[in-house]
Amino acid sequence: MGALTAALMLAVAAWVGWAQLGEEGTPMLPGLPYRVHDAKRPHPRVVIPGTESSQERPGRPPSDAIVLFDGKDLSKWVNRRRGQVSEAKWKVENGYMEVVAGTGDLLTKEKFGTGQYHIEWASPTVITGNSQGRGNSGVLIMERYEIQVLDCYKNPTYADGHAGAIYGQWPPLVNACREPGQWQTYDIIFEAPVFDGDKVVKPVYFTVLHNGVVIHNHQASMGPMVFRQVASYKPHEPLASLMLQDHNNPVRFRNIWYRPLGEYDKP
Ligand code: MG
Repeated sequence: MGALTAALMLAVAAWVGWAQLGEEGTPMLPGLPYRVHDAKRPHPRVVIPGTESSQERPGRPPSDAIVLFDGKDLSKWVNRRRGQVSEAKWKVENGYMEVVAGTGDLLTKEKFGTGQYHIEWASPTVITGNSQGRGNSGVLIMERYEIQVLDCYKNPTYADGHAGAIYGQWPPLVNACREPGQWQTYDIIFEAPVFDGDKVVKPVYFTVLHNGVVIHNHQASMGPMVFRQVASYKPHEPLASLMLQDHNNPVRFRNIWYRPLGEYDKP
């Protein structure tokens, strides 16, 4: 095959490839600078998907995740107790961290807002207490908006305090809890609130999967977690820490990561 023939074949292949990437003469999409099937529309960024966790081992996070805890150390975290910040003191062993009662809540050094949060947790195998006293902790996004962590396997408690509840507001749609000691997953898609001066103009929205089961579907939150009160919004900083609650029970966590949601047509 001559060089000219090869070059011609390459050119044809390139043209066919380009032609297959999109259509011409299609209508404009309403409100968008793109046509239907537009070849010039930016392609989505490539992310290498993670792997699922098993009881024996945590899965691998997606390639663009910010890994906050990989089972080795608490270098990305600090403790906070009664407003005092100190080096992280929760126990780390066998690939998980465990609440050490009285050391305070655990907060990421890095601050986040809207995004996808993945957290795995396990209730203590030695069952003590009942209702809210049994395997209590919490995932507080932006240090405020809580998805409750509780041993809810055959442990009756008030509905809006269940595992997976938007605490004090919305029970989970279903109780998808595993037995104490079993690893459980939370996949939380969180939308941060938007404030205009003192007023909230867009509330927090939660979409949450517990062990792969939808327990909140784009549910608005009434405001930050409060106890025995009705929540209400107060303006706060646009980014804040992810916080895990010290509620005096030795709850375990592993495989914690965050990824920003990104925006359409902005790869
Ligand atoms: Mg809690």
